[in-house]
Amino acid sequence: MALLDQQPTRTCDYCGEVLRGRSDKKFCNAECRNGFHNHFATLNDAFMRKVNKILRKNRRILAELNPDGKANVHVDRLNDRGFSFNYHTHIYTTKEGREYRFCYEFGYLEFKPDWFVLVRRDQERGEKRS
Ligand SMILES: [Zn+2]
Repeated sequence: MALLDQQPTRTCDYCGEVLRGRSDKKFCNAECRNGFHNHFATLNDAFMRKVNKILRKNRRILAELNPDGKANVHVDRLNDRGFSFNYHTHIYTTKEGREYRFCYEFGYLEFKPDWFVLVRRDQERGEKRS
């Protein structure tokens, strides 16, 4: 069969044109290579900007609702402000196994249904200093 004798058709990863020449080529030329890298750099930046924006908003909401370093709030107050429960920077697990979720230095924990205790940590505990 003639098909078996053919080299698989390779196309440019950026513009889709059929490639000729070296078999390790991925792009037509430098322009396509740059276009490809710029395209993905832009996408990654956009995603990071989106996530950072949500995290900053969450942090602002937690800071507003927790001006004194500790507060109990109902879930409605978080939802009303547009808090995103899916986004946090890290989790702190207590010895008792309770998980505080943090957006930067502001954390929260659901201590009974729909009620959250808000906390603030200005520095990481458990961080070893030498
Ligand atoms: Zn190309």
